[in-house]
Amino acid sequence: AKEMGNNNFQFYAREMNASVEEKLMLLEGLRGALDEGQFHLLYQPKVDLRSGLIFGVEALIRWEHPEHGVVSPLRFIALAEESGLIVAIGDWVLHTACRQNKAWQDAGLAPIIMSVNVSPRQFEEKRLVERVAAALRESALDPGALELEVTESLIMRDLAQSVGKMRELKAMGISLSIDDFGTGYSSLSSLKSFPISTLKIDKSFVRELADNTDDQAIAMAVISLGHKLNLRVIAEGVETEQQCTFLRDNDCDEMQGYLFSRPVPPAQIAALLEEQARM
Ligand code: C2E
Ligand code: CA
Ligand code: CA
Ligand code: CA
Repeated sequence: AKEMGNNNFQFYAREMNASVEEKLMLLEGLRGALDEGQFHLLYQPKVDLRSGLIFGVEALIRWEHPEHGVVSPLRFIALAEESGLIVAIGDWVLHTACRQNKAWQDAGLAPIIMSVNVSPRQFEEKRLVERVAAALRESALDPGALELEVTESLIMRDLAQSVGKMRELKAMGISLSIDDFGTGYSSLSSLKSFPISTLKIDKSFVRELADNTDDQAIAMAVISLGHKLNLRVIAEGVETEQQCTFLRDNDCDEMQGYLFSRPVPPAQIAALLEEQARM
């Protein structure tokens, strides 16, 4: 038994070392990734459930590591948050996404809304509002064509300060949405004080929507709550026709997911918008 315990210990120690090593390796790489131009953005269409038309896109970051290939943001965003690198990376995302939306408009495509994810650390940074203003100024993008997706968890940390920033951003003409609604902290009581325009139902509630009656109840409740608060409601992670039909039948406003399109490079968004203009 003792022997087995030792083996187990070695096994766990090795596992832990591997993940610490991986973290250090990623962190080392992250420090230089911006300067080395290793990031790019993909864009996932957001579709109006009634018209079936694209009205916006969400910018999603990708990191092309020279040795490890494409690294998922699920692996490096948390690390970028812990290390503070998220502020510089987030700035790059904002500028790149704003410039891209302006470029589509300048190409004569129908105007759409660009949604950018803002992480907690980035949102809490003192100069967030100035940083967003700078990205809009530099790209000459209309603030009405920018939306920030924020997560519930960040909002809870310093309520008064977060609400203040949100009001400033809203006053500039930018819209705000609550991402991953229903996961993490529950912010039902705070919802009423946030100047947001959209609730996003997290994909964990959408995945089994076709046959899980609990998920159906949650989705219906969020849609009804959102509408009562005069918010639009979007569902993410929509992969099947059944999920889409359920959401449409239950009055959800918008959807996003592989059923319509995966996150794609800018040229594919342009092609989709051109196709839409010909319909
Ligand atoms: P999120 O904001 O909840 O984004 C939705 C995630 O679901 C994205 O993963 C997207 O590619 C994926 N997705 C879209 N449609 C489907 C679908 O039909 N089925 C499934 N299973 N997944 C779908 P991704 O791109 O790997 O991003 C993961 C997370 O990383 C994001 O979650 C977001 O929290 C964060 N992230 C991504 N880009 C950025 C960024 O530029 N800045 C910050 N701060 N965070 C980012
Ligand atoms: Ca998001
Ligand atoms: Ca998120
Ligand atoms: Ca989500």
